[in-house]
Amino acid sequence: MRIAIVGGGITGLAAAYDLERLTDAQIDLFEASDRLGGKLGTERLGDLIVEGGPDCFFAAKPGVFEFIQELGLEDQLIAPKQKEFAMLVGGKLHRVPAGLVRLAGPDPQAVEAATFLTERGKAEWHGRLARGYQGRPAPDEDESIRSFFTKRFGDEFTRLVAEPLLAGTHGGDAERLSMRALYPAYYQSPIAPPLERPTFLSFRSGMQSLVDALVNGLQRTQVHLNTGISAIDRPFRARMDTAAACQGFALRYRRSPIQGGTEAVEEFDCLLLAIPANHAASLAPGDLAQKLRQIPHRSSAIVTLAYRREEVGHPLDGTGFLVPPSEPGTISGATWSSEKWDGRAPGDQVLLRVFLREGHHSVEEAREAIEPLLSIQGEPLYSSIKTWPEALPQYEVGHLDRLAEIDALLAQYPRLFLAGTSFRGVGVPDCLRQGREIAKKIAETL
Ligand SMILES: Cc1cc2nc3c(=O)[nH]c(=O)nc-3n(C[C@H](O)[C@H](O)[C@H](O)COP(=O)(O)OP(=O)(O)OC[C@H]3O[C@@H](n4cnc5c(N)ncnc54)[C@H](O)[C@@H]3O)c2cc1C
Repeated sequence: MRIAIVGGGITGLAAAYDLERLTDAQIDLFEASDRLGGKLGTERLGDLIVEGGPDCFFAAKPGVFEFIQELGLEDQLIAPKQKEFAMLVGGKLHRVPAGLVRLAGPDPQAVEAATFLTERGKAEWHGRLARGYQGRPAPDEDESIRSFFTKRFGDEFTRLVAEPLLAGTHGGDAERLSMRALYPAYYQSPIAPPLERPTFLSFRSGMQSLVDALVNGLQRTQVHLNTGISAIDRPFRARMDTAAACQGFALRYRRSPIQGGTEAVEEFDCLLLAIPANHAASLAPGDLAQKLRQIPHRSSAIVTLAYRREEVGHPLDGTGFLVPPSEPGTISGATWSSEKWDGRAPGDQVLLRVFLREGHHSVEEAREAIEPLLSIQGEPLYSSIKTWPEALPQYEVGHLDRLAEIDALLAQYPRLFLAGTSFRGVGVPDCLRQGREIAKKIAETL
């Protein structure tokens, strides 16, 4: 029995890890790039630790902590040194009072203390609270982030607090993004229980530690780097003359240059596409491809900058700031990495991660936004940019219905599986969970 996994991101790696333990099949993992990890990747540059993609994960998601323990990474976990952050409104940084973004609902005192909310916005918030929004969505009903929060907390709170936190971090539009798909637990029950541990965690040496631990945990998976799957010849492109043709998959790929760069076709009994929907669409048959293309993806870029601490005039208290999507500008926020996490930069330097909005792609744009805001006098000691074209999946209203349609089409191919960031959760813990769940499903199918 041969299983092919296409995609060596965190989803594909988690799937391979569990498939090794659940089956005795031969497992081949194909990765188009020259490294494993996909969007996760940390670079160490002298004394700087630079994250290209995610810099932390939501540790309260079910199962993630236990999996990290299983991988032997528990002692590598680090919590942020600070929790507070700011909101950039009207060109000024405003501290976000701690109780404003509680999962259990904003604390009225925090609403009063928020300097970026107007008296009108606060009155609207109090008015909505007094009226007590009673509506609970039916299990199959969907609603946009904007609609959900406006009903409960009013327009201004939604625009300046909920949208930057819940839609801006996805590079998305709050009027289109689905509450039901993105925040299912909160959507059904907006009063959340207290959390057991700090919500966001990272690893001492960066998120790459998670990739390395998964890779080290693989014993017998054959990993093929620089090997992008270019087509699935059979059964998708060939005529299905016999029932046997439905049983397996013929994957077409180009061997790495070291192996001669020649094209090859290999047969597999079972196929997992652990790649984003926009990539899977170019391999899938017509009807499935069409559905996969209905999941949009947006672009972003992260600029990392290091400065001499003495040249940064503005105090860097907290972890950074967000910019509400309704505010003008080229950036959606910034993280003070050196202030948020231990060990990211030498003590006399500050390390900043600046998030560019879609359509902006240069270090200069990030500098123009951040340097006046933080009264930075000198030139950066280090700068780099990591662009993320069409890398942020958009779970728009109706996303779960689209997934049901995709599942119905997949039923034609009992040994074809899809998992990862575009489908059932965008964060790192969601992708780990999807990789593990799909491994279980594959093992049950074989
Ligand atoms: C800028 C940015 C910041 C983020 N920040 C956070 C964060 O702070 N916390 C968090 O939890 N999540 C964050 N995320 C989300 C998280 O990083 C992703 O959801 C997750 O890493 C996706 O993993 P994946 O394995 O599903 O997909 P990917 O990481 O995209 O991996 C897919 C892999 O498949 C390969 N591939 C594609 N097509 C083919 C092909 N035809 N043949 C072979 N290989 C192929 C690709 O090269 C890639 O390596 C962020 C995402 C981005 C873009």
